[in-house]
Amino acid sequence: MSGMNIIYFYNEEWEKEYVGGKLASENITFLRGSVQDYPDFRSDDAEALAVFVNSRVGKEELDRFRALTFIAARSTGYDNIDLAEAEARGIKVSNVPTYGENTVAELAFALLLMVSRKMYDSYKQIEQDGNFSKSDLTGFDLKGKTIGVVGTGHIGVHSIKIAKGFEMNVIAYDPFAKPELAAELGFEYSSFDDLLARSDIITIHVPYLPATHHMINMGNVGRIKKGCVLVNTARGPIVETDALVHGLKDGTFLGAGLDVLEEENYMGDETALLFQEHPNADSLKTVLANHYLIDHPRVIITPHNAFNTREAITRILDTSIDNLLAYSQGSPKNLVAKK
Ligand code: NAD
Repeated sequence: MSGMNIIYFYNEEWEKEYVGGKLASENITFLRGSVQDYPDFRSDDAEALAVFVNSRVGKEELDRFRALTFIAARSTGYDNIDLAEAEARGIKVSNVPTYGENTVAELAFALLLMVSRKMYDSYKQIEQDGNFSKSDLTGFDLKGKTIGVVGTGHIGVHSIKIAKGFEMNVIAYDPFAKPELAAELGFEYSSFDDLLARSDIITIHVPYLPATHHMINMGNVGRIKKGCVLVNTARGPIVETDALVHGLKDGTFLGAGLDVLEEENYMGDETALLFQEHPNADSLKTVLANHYLIDHPRVIITPHNAFNTREAITRILDTSIDNLLAYSQGSPKNLVAKK
């Protein structure tokens, strides 16, 4: 049989049908779930893996696929893949550079409005008690507030456009500033410290890299403006969980909207951490702190769902299919390299 041997870890049944139809020229084995859901699965002839962010692909996983030459990450962020290890083995990795700048930015503002207008509390008191009192439901306007956008890439820029629609004052931090864009959209670049000190709302849109690990941390949380709302739709470990908990307790953060958490992969199956050969005390502590956040009345958490619209998923699948076909035909597309 010709075509490339692909192991495709999928999420939804309709996705399997859709991808199977468009990749009929290739030899695909579909497995529902993540690489971690199949700890004993090995293949000596798989040339490509297609994975979503719920699969971690590091040394141990790569050892199970000895003939691998390509990984198609069905996401923009690819911090779930050990790129150094892949590069050392000559394995190429592609991602989906854009598919949902509006999709993720829309969820960032949904999270912000949940906090600013106490949407969950409003809904809950009517649903649970039939209570139409407004006494504890006073929120705050977005108009006139300063929003600090961390990262002015695809999603950050779309968030800026939405913020301008709310007539907010926008400041941004990005080591690769785009002054023409700032002039065009009417926002101002600042230093990261200045952004922390001035923002009523901080929204994070940077990739997870060594340089962005714990960008908000115990060392700088004290410099954040009191009463700030933090929105994180990027990646959990960009915010040190201890700093978030500390900031909520001392009033630095009025609230938070989080689509991502540190150690979120363990939240559905915490016992997996306990049964690891080398239990990681920091991870366990973070998982416990996540429960504090989940229970906190002014913290809204969604399950890494910012990408999840019909339109965005179709765009993700189409680009991933294109990446797989391009690689199979000898002209790879959307390759990523270690930064
Ligand atoms: P992008 O590459 O277009 O933009 C990232 C921006 O961050 C760039 O402008 C870059 O210069 C900037 N940047 C890099 N290092 C920085 C640093 N140290 N400080 C400040 N800025 C820095 O990416 P994007 O499409 O806007 O996506 C951003 C991130 O959002 C992705 O990497 C991904 O992790 C996350 N994301 C999450 C979801 C979700 O479902 N929650 C969906 C898509 C993307």
